[in-house]
Amino acid sequence: MTLHKRRAHTSVEHEHWNMSWWLLMMYLLGNRGGAKASRRGSLALRNTLCIYTYSPTGLFLKPKTVYLFTNLRKLKTFLKCILYQKKLSSSVSAQSCFLSTYGGTSHVSLDDVFTEVQLELHHSSSGVHQPLDLEDVVGSVGTVNKDADTVLVSGEAGSGKSTLLQRLHLLWAQRAALRDFVLLFPFSCRGLNLEHRELCVQELLFQHCCWPDREQEEIFQFILDHPHLILFTFDGLDELKEGFVDELRVCCPTQRAPVHVLLFNLIQGTQLKGVMKVVTSRPGAVGPGLKKHLRKEVLLKGFSPSGIDCFVRKHHSDSAVAAKVLESLQANTALLGLCHSPVLCWIVSQCHKELLSCGEGSPQTVTDVYLMILQHFFQHHSTSKGTTGAGWLQEHLRTVLHLGQLASEGITSSCCVFSGADLETCGITEKDVCMGFLVQSKDVSPGNSKRYEFLHVTMQCFFAALYIVLSGDTDCSTVPKLFELQDVTETGLSSTCLRACLPSADQQGGHLEEHTTAAEAPNLQITATFVSGLLSQRHKRSWQRCCSKAAVERKVRQVTRCLSKGMQKHFRSIPRPVPGEKKSMHAMPGFVWLIKCIYEMQESRIAKDAMSKLEVDHLKLTYCNIGPMECTALAYVLQHIKSPVGLQLDNNSVGDVGVEQLLPCVHVCNSLYLRNNNITDEGIRRLTAKVVHCDNFQKIALFNNRLTDASTLHISHLLKAKQSFLSLRLGNNNITAEGAKRLAEGLRRNHSLKFLGLWGNKIGDAGAEAIAGALENSKSLVWLSLVGNGVGNAGARALSGIVRNSLSLEELWLTQNCITRAGVEYLIQALKHNTHMKSVWLKNNDLSSEEVEEVKLIEPRLIF
Ligand code: ADP
Repeated sequence: MTLHKRRAHTSVEHEHWNMSWWLLMMYLLGNRGGAKASRRGSLALRNTLCIYTYSPTGLFLKPKTVYLFTNLRKLKTFLKCILYQKKLSSSVSAQSCFLSTYGGTSHVSLDDVFTEVQLELHHSSSGVHQPLDLEDVVGSVGTVNKDADTVLVSGEAGSGKSTLLQRLHLLWAQRAALRDFVLLFPFSCRGLNLEHRELCVQELLFQHCCWPDREQEEIFQFILDHPHLILFTFDGLDELKEGFVDELRVCCPTQRAPVHVLLFNLIQGTQLKGVMKVVTSRPGAVGPGLKKHLRKEVLLKGFSPSGIDCFVRKHHSDSAVAAKVLESLQANTALLGLCHSPVLCWIVSQCHKELLSCGEGSPQTVTDVYLMILQHFFQHHSTSKGTTGAGWLQEHLRTVLHLGQLASEGITSSCCVFSGADLETCGITEKDVCMGFLVQSKDVSPGNSKRYEFLHVTMQCFFAALYIVLSGDTDCSTVPKLFELQDVTETGLSSTCLRACLPSADQQGGHLEEHTTAAEAPNLQITATFVSGLLSQRHKRSWQRCCSKAAVERKVRQVTRCLSKGMQKHFRSIPRPVPGEKKSMHAMPGFVWLIKCIYEMQESRIAKDAMSKLEVDHLKLTYCNIGPMECTALAYVLQHIKSPVGLQLDNNSVGDVGVEQLLPCVHVCNSLYLRNNNITDEGIRRLTAKVVHCDNFQKIALFNNRLTDASTLHISHLLKAKQSFLSLRLGNNNITAEGAKRLAEGLRRNHSLKFLGLWGNKIGDAGAEAIAGALENSKSLVWLSLVGNGVGNAGARALSGIVRNSLSLEELWLTQNCITRAGVEYLIQALKHNTHMKSVWLKNNDLSSEEVEEVKLIEPRLIF
């Protein structure tokens, strides 16, 4: 390699470096005097030409990094790249500095409004649980496949994927981050769908991102030679019309191929191996074929509670308004739950006037929130300002139907970008565009004609749903077909049937191609969710002024039937339990979606009906992307379960707001598993206050949350009050000796607990002594774990008291502590008095291998 990157060891004299830089630039730009001087400069550096990063022209590379060139030609190429870098960065900056959702209303700069989002590693990056920073997306943390160069950022629609990339682009262009990368090429898969020509990689880069004014070949050669200095981003892989395949190999950089084929080869690394790629997608759209080419997967979980607060304050320059909006969110936790999704948080902030004036009737469902923004946009353009009720809709019905037709045709053909001709075909006028729901697309088509897209893909789904509900032109089978789409997600089948049901789909030219894509199913699911909401009891009356009452009622019946059928299908799929084991249902894809649709309907009759057929002991919803919004829907439906269940929600993003949302259904839970869910002491306070009154509630698992000693006060109260409580697992939290002492107060007064897990806390000897003292006379405790708690000999001595006296304890786990041979002796002596105890686990304590062998011979129930 001729370009070496290395850290500067000494303090470099800036003057000297800057001068060499200028001289070299002058030479390269054709100034002869500079040429001589630059050669002198190079001699002075013993035939090595160096550039320091802080040059007056502002080339940007990693600070304190010196790039050494072994010949002048390579340096010349590098400098041309730097010129190209300037052009590329100003183009990237221009594209990224404003947020597109604000396009219809005002220009809001990303710098002003960007709010940190929650990023987590996918569980495949085992063992890494820390929250991630923006730059960690491209960093090494969580790497599962070192040979791969593609990072996937996955998140639901509206979770902030595009905005996150936009932020990374802007930070790069502002030289504030990603300084390891000399060139950054941003792509949108939506834009790539518009490219019908076959291209080679060089054409893809230069034509789709930024055209180098000169020396294209040399710059491309630089990219080929130094892939580790280049970053590509691909936004919205789920929107690409073609599904990922890795059989079509295009290895040669000059070979032309369809853009999706090039993209797949870039992701796999058959082209431009070593270039870092960041790809965003919705979770369901990425199959195992692509996953095996991933360096790592990062999950985008929307705003944290403090993120919501921060976003609302940034959105409103008037702090009094921000405070009022936040107050109304605190008063309506279902709405607060929705605001974890950035797009919904944006709508709620945008519609603050409507929100603050609606009092009791403030939005509860996603459909309510989208109706609020619909009304907000229309009322800005309304002829009769104070139009109340559904009057505004009647006034703008024509616009709604036209936009709805465009949206639904786009959804069924995986099209999000529309030409002027497409708009015309649907009867959309300039005035309709001015309403603000459509914005001009940033993805310029090859012919450079104007293109349009909806403010956000969820807005397109909402208009498609409005069309399905309000239009008299749709086929009778449109609603049933829409809800059968869970089969599409599960089998990958096309939604051509639905397409046939929508009017004029087959008459369209241009964008309506017969493709089946990964993009269809999630958008159709969102559309179906909105259809459920629009046909809910509370909204359906509004439509009756705009279309036939009978048609609306028919659609309501259809949705109700589809939801019931969909649920039954899930329940039928539950395998028969193995004799002696509990009947368990693991949620299949589509289950949470059905639950959300039922919630949107807001009819407890439907929820009751759906749950009347569920007969399971255990409902497993692990790794199901369940956040506060989903918890609201789950509780709404599950509260109607007939007999108590174990609800397993491990590895989701429930959080404290989600815990609050679950409260209406905890009375039907005999156990609640909430491992790894970002829950704090506040969540536990609310949960324990409720479950203390729930007769069925017996078990809770809270492993790997954010609990501190403050939680133990509430848990202790629960233990005292509930003499039927069986299992408490608090592993991997931040409980210290103080917390253990408080917990001990509850344990002392409880006579039912069988399982107590405190693995991975910091209770130490003092905590172990407190717990041991409280449990010494327990007649119920069967299993106790104090693994990894810094317990030493004093703790072991105290615990030997339980071992000596307990008639119920079978297993004691003390692995990974600091007990020595002397401490083990207490346990050996105690075990002499206890014949029914099965094992004491002592692996990884402070014993030599000889001591281990010795004690194992004395007491075989000690396990190492
Ligand atoms: P996705 O690409 O996941 O569908 P977007 O990035 O388009 O989601 O986000 C939708 C809208 O939500 C944005 O246009 C913006 O208004 C808001 N938003 C998303 N992420 C952020 C963020 N980090 N800070 C501020 N606003 C955000």
